[in-house]
Amino acid sequence: MTRGIYFLNKGTIKIVYIRKGILLYTIGSNENVQFQLLEALLEEIDLKFNEMYAVDVILSYGKVGETVFKDFTSKVNEIIEKAEELINPVDVFCRVCKRTLPILVKKSLIKNATSYPVPVVFVHAGHAVVVYVDQNFVMRGVELVNMNG
Ligand SMILES: [Zn+2]
Repeated sequence: MTRGIYFLNKGTIKIVYIRKGILLYTIGSNENVQFQLLEALLEEIDLKFNEMYAVDVILSYGKVGETVFKDFTSKVNEIIEKAEELINPVDVFCRVCKRTLPILVKKSLIKNATSYPVPVVFVHAGHAVVVYVDQNFVMRGVELVNMNG
């Protein structure tokens, strides 16, 4: 199955896409929301969507009416209300900003990691830091990184 995750930063909006086979999930927010939170929400939406619907069977009918998935809207709102359960804030002191920043880390990222600490890059205010997070969501190190793209 083709899988992919795409991030888009467009002016004051952020968009994340997750492609999973023939499905494409997308979520957007203002620039203040961290990508890890958006990604965590999409992962949960994908999980619940596939729990609720036999997607392969439904889509095999060919023509699918837009009302088929309409009950899912309330599920999405439920997922957003419980967003805090999907992420953990990690306090990180940024030497450039000279203040402590709460960096949000997806619980699934730490849970599914194959080695620790897990590096997470946090881009903010025109610079980036890499934060090393252990299995207990404690910061084990932070470094300023150079960016190129
Ligand atoms: Zn900073």
